[in-house]
Amino acid sequence: MSHWVWKRAVAIGLCLLLGAGIGAWLGETWWQRGLAGALAGALIASVCLLLQDTRRARQLLLWLRLDPHAQTREVRLPAMWRSLRGHVRRSWREQDKAVDTERRRFDRLLSAMQASPDGVLILDHEERIEWGNIAASTHFGLDIERDRHQHLVNLLRQPAFLDYLQRGEFGQGVHLPRRDGEGSLMVYVFRYGDQGDKLVLSRDITDIERVDQMRRDFVANVSHEIRTPLTVVSGFIETLSSLCLSEAEQRRYLGMMGQQAQRMQTLIDDLLVLARLEGSPLPPMDRWNDIGTMLAQAEGEARALSQGRHQLSFAAAEPAQIAGAASELASALTNLVGNAIRYTPSGGRIEVRWQPLADGSGEFYVRDDGPGIAREHLARLTERFYRLDRSRSRETGGTGLGLSIVKRVQTRHEGALLIESGEGEGSTFRLRYPAKRIRPADR
Ligand code: ADP
Repeated sequence: MSHWVWKRAVAIGLCLLLGAGIGAWLGETWWQRGLAGALAGALIASVCLLLQDTRRARQLLLWLRLDPHAQTREVRLPAMWRSLRGHVRRSWREQDKAVDTERRRFDRLLSAMQASPDGVLILDHEERIEWGNIAASTHFGLDIERDRHQHLVNLLRQPAFLDYLQRGEFGQGVHLPRRDGEGSLMVYVFRYGDQGDKLVLSRDITDIERVDQMRRDFVANVSHEIRTPLTVVSGFIETLSSLCLSEAEQRRYLGMMGQQAQRMQTLIDDLLVLARLEGSPLPPMDRWNDIGTMLAQAEGEARALSQGRHQLSFAAAEPAQIAGAASELASALTNLVGNAIRYTPSGGRIEVRWQPLADGSGEFYVRDDGPGIAREHLARLTERFYRLDRSRSRETGGTGLGLSIVKRVQTRHEGALLIESGEGEGSTFRLRYPAKRIRPADR
């Protein structure tokens, strides 16, 4: 038995003794003394115990009202009450722990929602803002702390969104212009809970729309590029089959048809190269290509293309090797050399060099003294089908895809394509490669 039970038993015994004394004093016969003593003892014991328990209950209550966690404020209590306090304290601790775990889980959930690039906004059933993440603040121009408990409709002035909310048909999202007018948002509303609370999700779809637009433009460009020579070829076929032409005329028409067919072929080849570059694995780091060999190969092709119309000069400042996909590296260089020949009038000078750079990187440069390119075009030259002079490009067998292929090859090799030019100043195109892809040739 615990200590406090003994203490209580002794206290009750003393009360009963005191009662017996009172009984002896009050009663005349022995049974009167016994009865009165027992009653008085029981009464005194009960009153004492009641007073004592009331006092201790008050102390416990006081302790509960005060900060129960603070040891300094602890009230001295007898064992039974201490034990009761111990139970209360343990259950509090467990409760605190459970609340802490839940709070941490909730905080993590909120942090995850904050990290989302999509906007998340929680509205109550009257469409008052309860919570929102940073993306939602940006998308809707809100300050969540300041605007909490405000009606969303009073803060958002977008008629399309207000109309969408009012209609209450949330099966599909609503398309909204971005606040800066530079793009678009897609906003979805979902009802949840018994009260009809609402979850608003917003997504910036500017990039998706841009890519979509690029894809549409690309298809339109390809169709246009193919349709032009195809129309010419169909026209010739009709002419050849309906008119009675001399043999010389027939040969001329067939020659022109061959040219158009070749144009389509080149276009399709370039498109396939681009598709391969998009889809194939990154170029290897351990396949070393000799720069001297690359220059010699480019020079052979350049001389064939120029047919003696230009002064060509090819050289490497020092022998070196470059890591990457041989066919891609060669196609980047020959594309630039080909452009220089095609756009530089007869008699022009074209210089092709390899040179190491101070930071360990290295570059090919292709310099011509041709017509040059006005500066406003430079940034757009690597876009697909971007040409300064469409007919000049076509005349020389261009597809408008050459520089976009070069750019892609450079990106895949962690390199860069740099263009320096100005109207009437000639052009310099540089193919730069990082130090880790270059090593001396004698290894
Ligand atoms: P294209 O097949 O038309 O040559 P590119 O992508 O290779 O396509 O080049 C894009 C445009 O850049 C060309 O149409 C041409 O106007 C311009 N360009 C490229 N290289 C040169 C150069 N060396 N000199 C002048 N203009 C050039």
